[in-house]
Amino acid sequence: MHVKWFLISFIFILTVGVNKPVTALENKVSKSWHSHQFEVMGTLAKVEFESANQKLASQLIKDVVGEMERIDRVMSPYKPNSELTQINENAAKGAMKISQEMFDILARSHYFAELTHGAFDISFSSVGYLYNYREQVKPTASQIDQLRSAINYRNIQLNPQTQEVFFTDKRVKIDLGGIGKGYAVDRSIQILQRHGIQNAFVNAGGDSRIIGRKNSRLWYIGIKHPRNPDKLLANMPLENVALSTSGDYERFFELEGKRYHHIIDPKTGDSAREIQSATIIADDSITADALSTSVFVLGVKEGMALVNAMPNVSAIIVNNKGKLLLSKDLTPAE
Ligand code: AMP
Ligand code: MG
Repeated sequence: MHVKWFLISFIFILTVGVNKPVTALENKVSKSWHSHQFEVMGTLAKVEFESANQKLASQLIKDVVGEMERIDRVMSPYKPNSELTQINENAAKGAMKISQEMFDILARSHYFAELTHGAFDISFSSVGYLYNYREQVKPTASQIDQLRSAINYRNIQLNPQTQEVFFTDKRVKIDLGGIGKGYAVDRSIQILQRHGIQNAFVNAGGDSRIIGRKNSRLWYIGIKHPRNPDKLLANMPLENVALSTSGDYERFFELEGKRYHHIIDPKTGDSAREIQSATIIADDSITADALSTSVFVLGVKEGMALVNAMPNVSAIIVNNKGKLLLSKDLTPAE
């Protein structure tokens, strides 16, 4: 297993198996740390890494910011010229040629839709686009009735020969919010690795990935408490993993005692309500991101069953009663 052990706040200590031997202490001489925080994709992002080369470090920060901004320009549903917006406007009119990158992420989204029996479904947006969390707007029951059957990943046809996408139903809209940040984090880590960086942390909203170590120690990554986001639910020493949290506290409003938030159950067109937060630990960020959204929708029983059947995937869930639940590879220690 890829997680060494967990330290949940208060007295909650968990241990799990180790898969990587602890390597010799690194040479501490002359290397220095670089860190940069910025806003992108409607959230806060951060890159932090070790490099002795100041010039290279400044360039890499620019490259990572540039890459995340580029992905946002391609995948944002709010930018009129993004490739995603163009697809939403045109893909039901006829098969549409798209970029290789967009094709690959749509294919990956299709894979997670099949894996989760449609809990992860980027066509959730066929109804989801009618929610505006800032303005406290939600679709009416009759709007949901009319559009809910458009939510079906099978309505998104992909042709790898021609690199084309076609929506078989003109009501279909897609949104990559459940997978895009993970993709952006993976791309950023690749940029750093390609330039020889061995120790780094990249974060975008609820998605983080770490490589190597922080000053010869494991990285500590915190998980927010879903009902008290200023507090940590967990603070975990980790090595070479990606971690993604999906929570009902990120974007929401409350109406008549009900919380309307941004993670939509494709079966109902309404917010999924079995879980307050789902954290996934996996080898890469795109997997962690897609699975955290998926598990949130699937709920505790089905979500845990999926995670427990997957190698190198762990879950930390807070259910809608505030109870903490762990996948079977995470064992509480005394
Ligand atoms: P995350 O924080 O990774 O769970 O992403 C939440 C975002 O995923 C939302 O803001 C939506 O853009 C998108 N989303 C919501 N419901 C679903 C769903 N059922 N399948 C895929 N993406 C979704
Ligand atoms: Mg996600």
